Amino acid sequence: MTATVAPGDLNEFCTRCGRSLRASSSVRRGYGPTCVSYLHNARDNADLSEFHPWQADKASELLETCGLVPTDHPNVYRAVSSDGSRTYLSTTDGCTCKAGQYRVPCYHRASVTMLRATRKTRRRRARAPR
Ligand SMILES: [Zn+2]
Ligand SMILES: [Zn+2]
Repeated sequence: MTATVAPGDLNEFCTRCGRSLRASSSVRRGYGPTCVSYLHNARDNADLSEFHPWQADKASELLETCGLVPTDHPNVYRAVSSDGSRTYLSTTDGCTCKAGQYRVPCYHRASVTMLRATRKTRRRRARAPR
């Protein structure tokens, strides 16, 4: 095993499904190839009516840059703040960021909502990638 990148920079496991990632492109992205395709649909599948459109934008950005990582608790995610200096704990109905403490909808929650929405689509058969 040759590690050329600091462990903290790598995502060993898929952010969405938790499977271990092998392809280096997946590791960098933080999602397996199938889950990336789900992410692209996340915004359409999620009910983001309580969030502003700009929050939905930030939320997709957060997801695509792996700014949202699962924790040991299945419904709780760790969201990285926009300057990368802090992390918050977010669920679909709460967040430890400043806005969240005032029960104001924040884009961290929007991104959890989006990520969770992709899970529901599992029922539907995904188009075979090969
Ligand atoms: Zn995955
Ligand atoms: Zn928040």
